[in-house]
Amino acid sequence: MKTLTSCLQGAWVSGQGHAQTLCNPTTEEAIASASTHGLDFKKALSYGRDVGGKALRALSFAERGTMLKKLADAISAQREELLLLGMQNGGNTRSDAKFDVDGAIATLAYYAELCQSLGNARFLSDGDAVPLGRSPRLFGQHFLFPRKGIAIHINAYNFPAWGLAEKAATCLAAGMPFLCKPATSTALLAHRMFEVMLSSGALPDGAGQFVCGSVSDLLDHVESADVVAFTGSCETAALLRAHQQIIEKGVPLNVEADSLNIAVGGPDLERGTETYDLFLKNVVKEITQKTGQKCTAIRRIFVKRDKLSEVVEDLLERLSQHKVGAPDLPDVTIGPLATAQQKRDVETGIAKLAKEARIVLGGVGRLSLHQTDPEKGYFVMPTLLVAHDPSVLKEVHSLEVFGPVATVIPYENTEHLFAQAERGQGSLVASVFSDDRAFLSESVMGLSASHGRICLGSEKVAGPFIPPGTVMPQLTHGGPGRAGGGTELGGLRGMLFYMQRTAVSGFQPFLESFSATAKRAW
Ligand code: NAP
Repeated sequence: MKTLTSCLQGAWVSGQGHAQTLCNPTTEEAIASASTHGLDFKKALSYGRDVGGKALRALSFAERGTMLKKLADAISAQREELLLLGMQNGGNTRSDAKFDVDGAIATLAYYAELCQSLGNARFLSDGDAVPLGRSPRLFGQHFLFPRKGIAIHINAYNFPAWGLAEKAATCLAAGMPFLCKPATSTALLAHRMFEVMLSSGALPDGAGQFVCGSVSDLLDHVESADVVAFTGSCETAALLRAHQQIIEKGVPLNVEADSLNIAVGGPDLERGTETYDLFLKNVVKEITQKTGQKCTAIRRIFVKRDKLSEVVEDLLERLSQHKVGAPDLPDVTIGPLATAQQKRDVETGIAKLAKEARIVLGGVGRLSLHQTDPEKGYFVMPTLLVAHDPSVLKEVHSLEVFGPVATVIPYENTEHLFAQAERGQGSLVASVFSDDRAFLSESVMGLSASHGRICLGSEKVAGPFIPPGTVMPQLTHGGPGRAGGGTELGGLRGMLFYMQRTAVSGFQPFLESFSATAKRAW
């Protein structure tokens, strides 16, 4: 069994004492262990601030771009090995593993290009200089400088590769060092990925550190210049929000948490049209991809009541074609959940949903696996529920069942639709499928306050349409309310979390020449 080490202050170190075990979720075999017991996080954070931060701030954006490109290339060169680790420790099918690893490479490559486009500056100017009174001599101007602390990245178990890369990319682009702590249960892939990043030689000393195992006392050592970016459940997020040191030091905390994402079939959807097909295709993809273990997966599917039975019938037909089983089998499209705990949670969740909605496919305890031993592994079947009476729903709008599980809900009119959507208390993404422009406009207005991103699917974009569960670095990722209220990615927008906005006022000619050494952000 492999022992996963942490990389602190430029050295690979092992924790002592109690270790957590990582498993293969298909066979339940133990494959690695990780411990952080006794590791000196205080020194690691100081090292990142003093050594890594200084080196990164000395680099121009273009030089940071070169560094990110080297990281993307190094990961790309080890892609095959990384895909296998995702399949082994994450239960991913090859296609699911690609989604994670290729997403990591693409995000690093995107930020590499963005940094190149920012040229030789090392900080940004923000907007126009503005006169501060009647005198033409006194002006003010906003600037964005890299923060002088260290960014602590705590990631969820479902995207070990992308999670590491998307946070590292924005942080390094901004000029701030990071320490990444992936979720322990699936850390095998993140561990190897960090090894690859480090051995590329692209990272200046101290610019990146890595913790494998429990978070231990890490957060007790954060200082006011640091930031914490967290992805995971809203329960853990609540602990971080209440963390004494984070509160006392006023440490910015970005949270990416649970979400009950919606898909909406417009009232104009008709069977046999391209938009109807796009709707079904994307709903099925978002239920099945990564065995439903995506924060952006569709959990609630809204259709006009008169379309309910045909949509359910067509979804059943498409979902039934999926094969559940060992993820390395070529025909299998749905692998196991990542851990025994996730399987227990999903089964408990399905039972709760089934008190309000009728299971029409899948459910608990009815495994039908493709050429796979059903006695082993953390498998669940894709599960579809139908809520004929939306007035009784509570759990469907509040419980994120983190597996291949979704509920179809009828709506009577747009007001009814938006009111139900809002009961999710803030989600990452809504997708709306319609060719009716008035309905699309109304949907953007009606859903925007409760969603971080809205994907509009129509006949005109059916070809290039990108599934709503795919997070693109060009657009922001994050949602209001229970989704955490955070913002990641979105080009320069994601870098703002790692930068200090400072307003500078003074003699206008001085400000003008100082501004010339910055790159204008917008
Ligand atoms: P989790 O149990 O909340 O764990 C997330 C991370 O927090 C892990 O690295 C975990 O470490 C760490 N952690 C646990 N206790 C902690 C504490 N007291 N202080 C600091 N860190 C702590 O979530 P998960 O089960 O890994 O992930 C699934 C959840 O993440 C789902 O709810 C999903 O919706 C959400 N998610 C959201 C997004 C998004 O972008 N919005 C993306 C992916 C997933 P250990 O593993 O060592 O316990």
